[in-house]
Amino acid sequence: MIQKYITNPSSVCVICSEAITNPLCPSCLSRHILVWAEDKDERIKRVCKDAIKVLRQQSVRMTKNSSTTCISCHREHSVCPFCFTEAVVSYLRESKLPDKDIEEFKEFFNYIGIPEHFIFH
Ligand SMILES: [Zn+2]
Ligand SMILES: [Zn+2]
Repeated sequence: MIQKYITNPSSVCVICSEAITNPLCPSCLSRHILVWAEDKDERIKRVCKDAIKVLRQQSVRMTKNSSTTCISCHREHSVCPFCFTEAVVSYLRESKLPDKDIEEFKEFFNYIGIPEHFIFH
């Protein structure tokens, strides 16, 4: 099933133009981000919530002309998880969160990918 996303040339991210090979939509990712922030201090929780609120306002652009179906909620979207988390990271930076928290966030969401057990089926 995943193979379908990789070989379908129209399943590309509207931001980076890369194929979306791990199609988790912005709204599902947002849920994971809030779960991650749950264990953090109040400031991080608040900034993460704000980031998601801001990004949600742009979500029309992210779902327009989309051909990629989220592996978790099956809604269509057109932004890869990497670009979405990048957008959150830049918001966290602007909010002057400590580097160590930003690094932890990046490690959790960008570089190891979304762990299988983290996807709500
Ligand atoms: Zn992308
Ligand atoms: Zn989803």
